[in-house]
Amino acid sequence: MTNSPKKIAILGATGSIGQSTLEVISGSPEHFQAYALTAHHSLGKLVELAKTFRPRYIVATDPIAAKAFDWSEVPADTELIIGHEAVKQVVSDSEVDTVVSAIVGRAGLEGTWAALEAGKRVALANKETLVLAGSLAMQLVNKHGGEILPIDSEHSAVFQGLEAGRKQDVARIILTASGGPFRNHTLNQLKEVTVEQALDHPTWDMGPKITIDSATMMNKALEIIEARWLFDIPANQIDVVVHPQSIIHSFVEYIDGSVMAQLSPPDMKLPIQYALSYPERRPSPASKLDFTQSMSLEFETPDMERFPALLLGKEVAERGGTTGAVLNAANEAAVASFLDNKIRFLDIVTASRAALDNHNFESNPTLDRLLELDVWARREVSQWIACC
Ligand code: NDP
Ligand code: MG
Repeated sequence: MTNSPKKIAILGATGSIGQSTLEVISGSPEHFQAYALTAHHSLGKLVELAKTFRPRYIVATDPIAAKAFDWSEVPADTELIIGHEAVKQVVSDSEVDTVVSAIVGRAGLEGTWAALEAGKRVALANKETLVLAGSLAMQLVNKHGGEILPIDSEHSAVFQGLEAGRKQDVARIILTASGGPFRNHTLNQLKEVTVEQALDHPTWDMGPKITIDSATMMNKALEIIEARWLFDIPANQIDVVVHPQSIIHSFVEYIDGSVMAQLSPPDMKLPIQYALSYPERRPSPASKLDFTQSMSLEFETPDMERFPALLLGKEVAERGGTTGAVLNAANEAAVASFLDNKIRFLDIVTASRAALDNHNFESNPTLDRLLELDVWARREVSQWIACC
């Protein structure tokens, strides 16, 4: 056993989760060290991070952006590597203890995959990998002896709630959802939602894609699917409750009716640190609950008519096979089009539903097949946008 700090590779270091992870590392330099950092387009930010954290490697994943950039300020003891293949190289480096998977969307799959193939501990924020290929990813964990520890706050809460009892005694898990900025909007109001309004989340400060996913509640749909694979729990034992304060991050209900909840202010530094330090707990830079201040905790049943994404999540978690890859890609393409003002807010879920309904279902696809369907579903959404 060595007491040297754990070496952390952060995929997507320039994003919201990447930044929170670096705050956790800064708070515990005796326990954690930034060993490799990746960025896609925020290359100036990457160089600043390299100056502050002195990682062994920095990776610029977009070769075109990297070629046009002036790298003269990279510290001498940091090696720059360029291109997506470099991500695979750094995650499988024998020095790396933990890989933080925080690239957004399908682009996060290859790095996560390589880390699991190398048998690493993966602190997973990139839920899209489990949505796209959850069954295969969990097989990879078993085959290579790695592990996936959730960063997603709901899944971290469930993970902690599951420590209170035996797996066979779990009745169901209940994911909490803030309800997003449009929790009280009518269907007619939802039709008129602008990009700026959708990007303004009431409780969480996150990257643009997940912020839009939260507004449509597709984020919760993706989280149902993530939970299905991560905890190997059937879809009919996963429920969702709207909890606008985002203080309770999820529940685990046991067969005797006892319910475990995990509470903390909405601050990703807590689940990130737990994924990095598990099974230990340590003082963290995350904000704490203040019970001297009055607070109320409210719960509502989600409205499937205004937020039909939840039905998609349930359906995909139940059917498995090719459905996750199609839903994930269709949603990613539709969200990008919404952010470009090419489609309206409600179209995101309608286009995703259309792609899912139009695809030829297979129950046991290979990863290659899932990646083909990812491309297919994006094209399907483009055609849907062109014709509707
Ligand atoms: P951000 O948009 O803030 O950051 C995304 C990161 O991914 C950036 O570092 C970006 O690099 C990098 N990136 C983007 N596209 C590519 C690409 N094609 N190839 C390689 N790298 C790329 O996202 P978030 O941090 O909000 O989310 C990251 C993941 O974490 C998502 O899967 C999200 O669902 C999940 N998550 C996020 C939470 C949050 O609170 N933010 C909570 C729970 C889960 P660059 O900036 O340099 O272009
Ligand atoms: Mg979440």
